[in-house]
Amino acid sequence: MDIVAEQVVIVGSGPAGWTAAIYAARANLQPLVFEGAVTEENRLQGTMPLGQLALTTEVENYPGFPAGDLSEFLRTSLPAEEHWLIDLHQKAGCSGPELMHLMRRQAANFGTRIVTDDIAEVDFDSQPFKLRSLGGEETAAHCVILATGARANYLSLESEERFKNNGVSACAVCDGALPRFRDQPLVVVGGGDSAVEEADYLSKFASKVYMIHRRDQLRASKIMAQRAHDNPKIEIVWNHTVDEVLGNDADGVTGVRLRSTVDNSTRELVATGFFLAIGHTPNTAFLDDKLELTEKKYVKWTVPFRTNTSVEGVFAAGDVADDYYRQAVTAAGSGCMAALDAERWLAAKGL
Ligand SMILES: Cc1cc2nc3c(=O)[nH]c(=O)nc-3n(C[C@H](O)[C@H](O)[C@H](O)COP(=O)(O)OP(=O)(O)OC[C@H]3O[C@@H](n4cnc5c(N)ncnc54)[C@H](O)[C@@H]3O)c2cc1C
Repeated sequence: MDIVAEQVVIVGSGPAGWTAAIYAARANLQPLVFEGAVTEENRLQGTMPLGQLALTTEVENYPGFPAGDLSEFLRTSLPAEEHWLIDLHQKAGCSGPELMHLMRRQAANFGTRIVTDDIAEVDFDSQPFKLRSLGGEETAAHCVILATGARANYLSLESEERFKNNGVSACAVCDGALPRFRDQPLVVVGGGDSAVEEADYLSKFASKVYMIHRRDQLRASKIMAQRAHDNPKIEIVWNHTVDEVLGNDADGVTGVRLRSTVDNSTRELVATGFFLAIGHTPNTAFLDDKLELTEKKYVKWTVPFRTNTSVEGVFAAGDVADDYYRQAVTAAGSGCMAALDAERWLAAKGL
């Protein structure tokens, strides 16, 4: 028996996915969201439902959520089972999990149906498209919005895990302006363009930025490498890898222990922040060969200023297709675009 095709299936549950769901639901498309599975593998790689923002504490740059006491807003906006967030709420601003629960609730309020599972396999060869979840559920859809995001690469040190949100960060733009990093020495790991960008950005706040690089030359483009050399606050520590992030529970990160790739000697640096800039991995493993990906395995947007992909009827939003801006608000913005693109595509097809 053929299954009835959904109009829109949204895969992913970060700001892009929920914004797409809010717009699609309000356009009467009755979206179905696969928000991801709660599995140990997803926990370990940082791809649990609600996305990357749910992994962080303060979010100071999402418009509409200034610092302040949101307790009453949370109490009236969220169902009782999510009121535990109110206890966690800090008046400093909105937290990542709060923001994500509110987005999910807003999508559900408009009738979005939600399945807590991963999509493991897709078939985009013919209409309607077919999707199979990790649990084996088969779904057919006329239109698909991919919003599976990306994950920051870490060094996989135990000490790095211990100080996440307490001095360890993978996003300078997100966290650089926090008080704990101001006028303090900071460390950036990496040697590519984005490492220079992160170091340069952090130098606005830090007293000094050490860039740790395992080679004797940056991988960054010439112009970016020159920017690092010209910035008096940036010191490049050549030929070193990170052995350990140093710190304690009260203060978080207090420094790093480095190891020379030349003679294996170790040295320590004092720093209150440890920023990773060694790339991101888009969550596209299940999309290999199904549609066009970029060299770095991001979904390729094929029309300028639109969210179209190489498959007609499949749209992409957020970090899964964007390796440049990588912010919650840009992900939400492209989620809105994808829902509008999907709605117009369905209307044009008479579906
Ligand atoms: C620690 C940290 C702090 C940050 N702080 C800020 C900040 O302060 N301000 C800011 O603007 N940005 C911040 N960012 C960046 C921001 O979180 C991301 O840009 C944003 O979350 C991207 O949203 P997205 O919707 O594209 O996807 P994501 O947030 O990456 O979410 C996608 C989710 O989809 C789900 N998924 C993945 N694969 C599948 C699948 N096969 N099937 C079903 N579901 C799947 C997973 O649950 C995944 O987590 C931070 C990022 C990190 C890591």
